[in-house]
Amino acid sequence: MHAYERLFIGGEWVGPSSDATFDVHSPTSGELVGRVPEAREADVDRAVAAARQAFEGGPWPRMTPTERAVVLTKAAEAIRNDMQGMSELISNEMGSPVSWGSLAQVFAPTMILDYYAGLGSTFAFDTVKVGLLGPVMVTKEPVGVVAAITPWNVPLFLAAAKLSPALLAGCTVVFKPAPETPLDANRLAEILADAGLPAGVLSVVPAGREVGDHLVNHPGVDKVSFTGSTAAGRKIGAACGANLKRCSLELGGKSAAILLDDVDLETSLPLLMPNAIMNNGEACISLTRILAPRDRYAEVTDALVEQVRALKVGDALDPATEVGPLVAERQRERVEGYIRIGQEEGAKVAIGGGRPAGLDSGWFVEPTVFVDVDNGMRIAREEIFGPVLSVIPYDGEEDAVRIANDSDYGLCGAVFTADNDRGVKVARQVRTGTYMVNSNIPIDFSSPFGGYKASGVGREFGEDGLELFLEKKTINLPAGYSPDV
Ligand code: NAD
Repeated sequence: MHAYERLFIGGEWVGPSSDATFDVHSPTSGELVGRVPEAREADVDRAVAAARQAFEGGPWPRMTPTERAVVLTKAAEAIRNDMQGMSELISNEMGSPVSWGSLAQVFAPTMILDYYAGLGSTFAFDTVKVGLLGPVMVTKEPVGVVAAITPWNVPLFLAAAKLSPALLAGCTVVFKPAPETPLDANRLAEILADAGLPAGVLSVVPAGREVGDHLVNHPGVDKVSFTGSTAAGRKIGAACGANLKRCSLELGGKSAAILLDDVDLETSLPLLMPNAIMNNGEACISLTRILAPRDRYAEVTDALVEQVRALKVGDALDPATEVGPLVAERQRERVEGYIRIGQEEGAKVAIGGGRPAGLDSGWFVEPTVFVDVDNGMRIAREEIFGPVLSVIPYDGEEDAVRIANDSDYGLCGAVFTADNDRGVKVARQVRTGTYMVNSNIPIDFSSPFGGYKASGVGREFGEDGLELFLEKKTINLPAGYSPDV
């Protein structure tokens, strides 16, 4: 049991302003695995004040990027030294199978920390050039106090995606994890403090929506970096717009995998499947719409059903498990609600649709494949956030691209084909921020990642991810002068 009685605010573990707590239960067994104080408005005010003070007068923004990078590198090492502990902690919070989680939930965040630590010595924070009218220096400065807000589905990964570039940039951060996953957030605070992060640079305020809203609207916050649902993203974007506050949004998805008519299913489906039902289907980038050529529709659905039948569903902590429980009862209700909606809309369940036998204590849903799906159905348009796939027939490549693009979202996608050139041609026509051509890698941390349309605003990862936390300043210089940079 991971029990915290204090909140990490301003670099210290301090008493919370109220007695309210969040209990964390294992989604597999229901057992109580942790408890943390719930942060309230007064705690957020305290955290923002500490972050403001550390930004205005503390050492962190005044250190060089390479000095700040040392802290990130040490944090990455500390996480790697406790891969199993961290992986089990996250699985106990939200049900991710450790087989997937140890790499995606834990090792990947260390890659992100290391990548941004590397940018500390290679990124051009200052550039001097001859402008149109004389010499010019463009310098990139930290944006200020950052509110980082994350969902529960890949908690440490998303914390790393925000904190690594924000901290490298020299910002100070108030981090609001989701109420479901406060334990790994507190662990990350401990790790960063041990790695040498100065007091005040980071605070962690586990809280729900209302307190999150208070943080977003706080006048002491300069920039909001949000990952979560499109509905919440719209509200946060509007609030930031009203205050002219910097804001980046990573939101939902309903991504399509196109199987072209020349596809080899034996080699392609093993690439597709891990991204179709990754993280129990609780992933923004999941390939939940499978687009199959009409004349190979039966062949594709049969092969997919066999892949899904072979998935091992069970205890998230069992290394053999490929699909674990959903995060909570309400998430299972949501997913089961969509399974009912799909049937009412006329789609057919080819496999799954119920609860797996013998797993009564956790929030399990059978991995489910719907066939005879039309792209206009709600199960094809709305984010289900569970292990539910829809197979949609198409007539010709142009139709496949049209259906892939016929979505409010534009986060991710994939094409599988015997012809890579044809795949790249399709990739160029699909309006999403990231795409896979005969690949199973949806995100490369050195390259931009984010959404078109209702999937977001801005790009995380790569140098773009660092730029989200920088302001650019142009300094016009006297003729003949060139500063050392
Ligand atoms: P959510 O939007 O309900 O909550 C996300 C976080 O925002 C939580 O910490 C929550 O407390 C907070 N929050 C919610 N409303 C808020 C408000 N008005 N002001 C301030 N904070 C607020 O999302 P969820 O259901 O927890 O997470 C799942 C969603 O996240 C899915 O839509 C998924 O696609 C998306 N997601 C996107 C990405 C991406 O990179 N694009 C990655 C992971 C998850």
